[in-house]
Amino acid sequence: MAPTQQALAGAATSQPPHFVLVPLAAHGHLIPMVDLARLLASRGARVSLLTTPLNARRLRDGGVTDKAARAKLLLEVVELPYSPADYGLPPDCQNADMIADNAQMLPFFLALRELAGPFEAYVRALVPRPSCIISDWCNSWTAGVATYLGIPRLFFQGPSCFFSLCDLNAAAHGLHERIAAAEDREPHVVPSMSVSVKVGNGRPHGFFTSPGCKELRHDAVAAMRTSQGVVINTFLDLEEKSVACYEAALGKPVWTLGPFCLHTRDGDDMASRGGNKSGVSERAIVTWLDKQAPESVVYVSFGSVARKLPKQQFEIGHGLEHCCRPFLWVVKESELASPEARMWLESLEARTSGRGLVVRGWAPQLVVLSHRSVAGFVTHCGWNSVLESIAHGVPVLTWPHFADQFLNEQLAVDVLGVGLRIGVTAPVMILNDDAAAPVLRGDIARAVSELMQGGEEAEERRRKAKEYGAKARKAMEKGGNSYERLTQLIESFRHGGGKDNEHCSGVIA
Ligand code: UDP
Repeated sequence: MAPTQQALAGAATSQPPHFVLVPLAAHGHLIPMVDLARLLASRGARVSLLTTPLNARRLRDGGVTDKAARAKLLLEVVELPYSPADYGLPPDCQNADMIADNAQMLPFFLALRELAGPFEAYVRALVPRPSCIISDWCNSWTAGVATYLGIPRLFFQGPSCFFSLCDLNAAAHGLHERIAAAEDREPHVVPSMSVSVKVGNGRPHGFFTSPGCKELRHDAVAAMRTSQGVVINTFLDLEEKSVACYEAALGKPVWTLGPFCLHTRDGDDMASRGGNKSGVSERAIVTWLDKQAPESVVYVSFGSVARKLPKQQFEIGHGLEHCCRPFLWVVKESELASPEARMWLESLEARTSGRGLVVRGWAPQLVVLSHRSVAGFVTHCGWNSVLESIAHGVPVLTWPHFADQFLNEQLAVDVLGVGLRIGVTAPVMILNDDAAAPVLRGDIARAVSELMQGGEEAEERRRKAKEYGAKARKAMEKGGNSYERLTQLIESFRHGGGKDNEHCSGVIA
């Protein structure tokens, strides 16, 4: 039997369609894929989520598998053997949050490519073949075996559709290469965007765009070509124009199924997302939030990867102290390595006791954003954070760092009108690179006050955020666009329909 026929035979049985999900080993990609796994399983599909041993352990410890079993969902977490040591990395460097310095970034991605072998062995052993593979855009190493065995494969784009379209258009016009070759110092306007978008040197414009990553990018783009479509964590009412343009440019279906974070209202589910431990219990955080006035608290967090040096931390701390508003600030343990940083933070906590809460480590972000006392979010503009904020009707103060984040900022501020810029224009490398150009305490205090105050512009941001929040909830309810798209996706692959969607007339460079 030809490989494609084999796959279709598997999919055509009375068994539920089987989705194999392969997230990138980084919270910003893993968390939404786990949400997607739950969404698919809660609608009757069988789901296997494949990841490295450390992430599998975190997911199990976070209760993902136990909860799925209790709810009788067909959701399993599968460990793929992984040896980062072959690339000079410590054995536990299995998630982007375990990367110690910027020099480990490229080896981390190269090491992940070695998962191709275990992945192929896993897929080949499955009888019947899975109905569909959904793998992160960065995991191009899933494409070969899917194509060979004729298993339909979708790629998952972690960032916004606005970013994805911009990246595709920039690639189609050779902008990434020109910028990497430093041919032009001036920023380039990306063609075919609904607003003026500029990318160039000194302005980060996506993933794998630095010169050392040329091969990774090449492979990822090649894997897009052989896919049958893309899944994006967004919703139509938020990004309708970008979705239509992206679909046309890609020549493949764009499955907008989000916001995934709204898949549950269960407090325990929301708190355990990401499976990381916090220095403060979820209960203590909620108790503190309960004591604050409605819509008074600013939440400050820079995602799972970006790490700040003490100099910048001090500015943030003093800025929050000076703006005289209740704040909940997440500081990573890795940012508190020095005794000076720890002592400084303790004294800030003493001075702002009652008005401020510092969470060391990991915060239950959805619990915070869904609390009625939270009215603003200072964010690094990772797409999950922006979308989670919008989904809960909370406007954002944008402080992008790298990769897609400057474009997510532009979407939030210029297109959606739910954000205010703190004013950074230069990127910082992922880890500990913000010493050169710190954002100063006065600017932070002013921007936070502007976000949180009354006045026409601030009210308008709040109104729009709430409006999008309501639309987000509607999209995820029965009859809503994301809900119905998920139904179509499952039904499409139940009948091996992934093949029907295969048309590649787009402009993938
Ligand atoms: N997150 C969290 N608690 C934290 C930090 C992050 O729950 O203390 C979650 C957050 O809700 C989001 C993800 O981690 O789902 C971060 O993804 P994002 O795209 O915002 O940024 P990244 O970490 O990829 O830079």
